[in-house]
Amino acid sequence: MPNPVFASLPTSIFQHMTVLAQKHEAINLGQGFPDQDGPLSLREVAAKQLLDGPNQYPPSKGMAVLRQAVSAHAAQFYGLTYDPEDEVVITSGGTEAITGALMAMAGVGDEVVMIEPTYDSYRPMAEAAGAVVKAVKLAAPGWRLTEEALRAAITQKTRAILINSPHNPAGRAFSREELEALARAVSGTDIVVVCDEVYEHLVYDGAAHIPLATLPGLRGRCLKIGSAGKIFSLTGWKVGWVCGPRELVSVVTKAHQFITFTTSPALQAGVAYGLMHEMDYPLQLARRLQTNRDILAARLTKLGFDVQPCEGTYFLTAGISKLTNEKDFAFCERLIREAGVALIPLSAFFKSGTPDTFVRFAFCKQQALIEQSLERLEKYFKK
Ligand code: PMP
Repeated sequence: MPNPVFASLPTSIFQHMTVLAQKHEAINLGQGFPDQDGPLSLREVAAKQLLDGPNQYPPSKGMAVLRQAVSAHAAQFYGLTYDPEDEVVITSGGTEAITGALMAMAGVGDEVVMIEPTYDSYRPMAEAAGAVVKAVKLAAPGWRLTEEALRAAITQKTRAILINSPHNPAGRAFSREELEALARAVSGTDIVVVCDEVYEHLVYDGAAHIPLATLPGLRGRCLKIGSAGKIFSLTGWKVGWVCGPRELVSVVTKAHQFITFTTSPALQAGVAYGLMHEMDYPLQLARRLQTNRDILAARLTKLGFDVQPCEGTYFLTAGISKLTNEKDFAFCERLIREAGVALIPLSAFFKSGTPDTFVRFAFCKQQALIEQSLERLEKYFKK
């Protein structure tokens, strides 16, 4: 019999909405990927490495040039020190980093705490490792994380907490106060915190990203995850990494050696170049996306959407109760068919106890497309 963790999964919501969007020629603000590729220089470096080689297995923990660049990036932006020799491991994307970290930290009967709504890979990968997931639910308005909710989810069996900040789909960049609450909740335990920070450079309104590992005493229990796909708008590259104390990274590295073993040398070389020479790119990208967010937020509010705060990521969430009595899923299907705009119902990111009156907009697109989708929505709702 197949593994029920995967056999019981429904078709992904992204696939469902994308197929429907194609059928109705809708603008797709569902799937979260940029519609413009990142810097040419990274692609040139990767292309040269591909042609000149070597194209054989790089070291399992990642090419030295990239581990050094990842370590230097953490030092430059956050003052965090990771030894590139044994405190950094390169993975095939943030997704593999998350899987490796979960498999390395939790096994059969262990508990893993996750913030719900959750990114779709988290729960199945923890469950496939035999762990039990305990959800801490964020609630609207505001999607705030509280110490009370965290403490209620933590038990003697908790081995890891997976926190995603900036958060997909909620669009939150958790505040220092919220991160301090998490720090208090784990103090005195040996719980490891897996920090999915793939949107670290997409934080808006002049705020700075706060890695949990920078809080006093937290570095030793944090596995900090990054993704070049998100930093450089090259999501198809799937190059990611995990940084952390060597005792923990060594175990993640062992999991990684049997998940993918390594990742493309050409892409590793391109990303190393980017981290060293193209860090202006994510800064400019964040400016462009902030403009998109502002345009969306203002015009959606006028239409009656209950726009929630968005401090980072590609995503904005909004309540639909003033617009419809339908649930989010039906509302999204109708918008594709009748307005020509595809969104994602937020209920897809909850296992149970879902608020089913919110939708997610992906605004990692060119401004003209965002405006075109707003024009469609305005025309539709004014009818
Ligand atoms: N974590 C979150 C929260 C994400 O949104 C994504 C990508 N959508 C990932 C991880 C995966 O990153 P990658 O593409 O590098 O595997």
